Order: sequence, then C-alpha cells, then structure tokens
Amino acid sequence: MKITGIEITHHRLQYDPPFHASWDTKPRTAFDATIVRVHTDAGLTGVGSGDLMLGFAGHEHLFVGQDPLAIERHHRVLDNIQFHYGRCWPLDLALWDLAGKITGQPVYKLLGGLTDRVRAYASSGTLRDPGAMAEAAEGYLAQGFRAMKIRFHRGDWRRDIAALEAVRARVGDRLELMVDCNQGWRMPWDTYPAWSLKDAVPIARELERLGVYWMEEPLHRADREGMRRLRETTDVRIAGGEMTREPHEFRDLIADGCLDVLQPDAALVGGVTGLRRVATMAQAANLVFTPHTWTNGMGVTANAHLVCGLTEGVYLEYPYDPPEWGLDRRDYMMAEPLRVDAEGWIVLPDTPGLGYAPDEDRLKATRVG
Ligand SMILES: [Mg+2]
Repeated sequence: MKITGIEITHHRLQYDPPFHASWDTKPRTAFDATIVRVHTDAGLTGVGSGDLMLGFAGHEHLFVGQDPLAIERHHRVLDNIQFHYGRCWPLDLALWDLAGKITGQPVYKLLGGLTDRVRAYASSGTLRDPGAMAEAAEGYLAQGFRAMKIRFHRGDWRRDIAALEAVRARVGDRLELMVDCNQGWRMPWDTYPAWSLKDAVPIARELERLGVYWMEEPLHRADREGMRRLRETTDVRIAGGEMTREPHEFRDLIADGCLDVLQPDAALVGGVTGLRRVATMAQAANLVFTPHTWTNGMGVTANAHLVCGLTEGVYLEYPYDPPEWGLDRRDYMMAEPLRVDAEGWIVLPDTPGLGYAPDEDRLKATRVG
C-alpha cells in the first residue's frame, strides 16, 4: 500500500456570543480547524486535526509514494519540518488513524491496548464570578464528571482563590479540582509578564489548603529553577509542558525535578509517535502523563487513544464550558461529538483507527481554504 496524496483543508466556525478564553485578552468570535487527510492507493484515508500545518506546503512529495505504516520514518520527516517551520503533527494523527484502518484495530490497541477508557476532567475556559463557578461545578457533577479544572486569570489572585473557594464549598470532595495558572506562554499579542516564584508560593499555599490536585503552569516555561523550588515548597502537584516542543526538553524537565505532571498535546507537539516516548519517560520517573487537549474533538480523541494505549492516565482534559465552549463548537468538524458517559469516562469504541468521522457537510459549509 502506498500514500497517494496529502490533502489539507482549512475551516472557520463563526460564533456569537464570543468565547472569552481566560488565557487570551482577545474575545474569540471564530474557531479555526485544519483537517489533514492521507489518501492511499487502497482507497483508505486517515484523518487528523489540531495545528494549522503552517510550513507543510511543498513537502507533500516526502510522503507520497511511501508505505503509510512506516510511521517512525514519517515522524522523522515531520520532526525535521517542525524544526525548520511550523508544527505539522496533525499529519501524524492522520497516519495513526490510517494505520488503524489498515489493520482493523482502534489506535489505542496498536499502542499497547492497556485500557479502553480514561476519566475526563471538565476543563473550563471562562472566568465566572464565584457563584457562577459553583453553579458550573454543580452542572459538571450532574453530568457525571468527577474532576474539573478552574482558570486563574482574574488579575488579582485573591479573586481567583475566592472562585475556587466557592466551588470547594459547594462540591466538597465530590469533585477533584485542578487549577490552571496559564503562566507558561502568552498569545502573540499579550505582552504582560508571567508570575515569579514569589508570586506563585502564596497561591500554592492556598491551593494546598483547598486540596487542589494540581497547579498548572504557575511560572514561565523557562523558569525551571522556579518550578523545581516551587515543587519542593508545596505538596500540590506541579503540572506543565503543554506546548513544550522538543522531547529533550521533557527529559531535562524530568531530570531537573521541575514537574509532577507532564502535559504535552499530541495534536500540537510530537504527534502520537513522539509523545509515546514522553509517556514512557514519565512512567520511568513515576510522574503523571496526561496531555493538554485544547484543540478540537479530533485532538481530544487522539490524546485519549495515546493515554489509554500506554498509561493508567489519572484524568484526561476534556475542554468543555457551555454555553461558550460546548460540543457544538469544539467538535463541529466531527459527525458525532466525543462524549463522556454518565460516570465521567471517555470510552473508546472498537472502530478501526481513531474512531471519528468528519462531518463533510459542516466542513463544506465552513471551508475557508
Ligand atoms: Mg493549560
């Protein structure tokens, strides 16, 4: 079997009201998705999504004519491309989807088949006032979730703590709570500085008091000494690495004792092929591996296969904050959204590949390139 073509299309879902993502000072009124398809001479097609595939144009010939199952070879080419240009990892996801279709197996089984399910945590994205946060938490509980992530970005961290306290007071121990400080990186237009270690320590103490499961990106991604010292100062797990580009950076983060929880996202960094190495590194160091998934439903699904194949993932991020960020937006490119069951599990089906299908009508209606 040979690869006969790589097809890339771009889509934009316009929406109103806007989504005020806590980590972005610009309200979002549209959501872009890039769909990558790998076609073969056997009539099978693999589909992936995630990043925008910037810099891929002109490199198609490096894949056309190749055996689609030579995934490690393809990964080397994609790694070269990401070094020189942009992150083109959705192609790796499409190749795994294709490998599953060729072999008749779901991807998580090709990766090791440890389990078919992982518990989702509801990852909120908006900054609501304390009462509304408590209501949202109640809503997640009613839908079966056992864990929820709260954003800290209200300007004064005491206001963030007030929102967290309101949630804890409402749900008690019924929800595991994570906090995302979003200090590791900024949007291109956001130039305000990250917290320092001395900013983060008193916040970590409050999170410890409130029984928070992990504190995510409390410092700039380069402040490794700060992360190491913060990790020694508090019992709360320190999480990070969602956009960390290189596997050797994870090796160094582990060696330097910076993190308890490693969060690279297969749709943005390394693909499934690259991140299975990071998952193995995390296991060897007795650390938690649980990917960031804030791309779209196809990205969440690919990360779910990765976690289920290889690890007893504690919780997997499930971006979900209705009405601003519901499944109608997150999964608009999919014929069926990725749902959680009544007890908060993502359960992967036995469908060959990654198990999703594109919504062709929706993709036609939203196509912009
Ligand atoms: Mg995050």
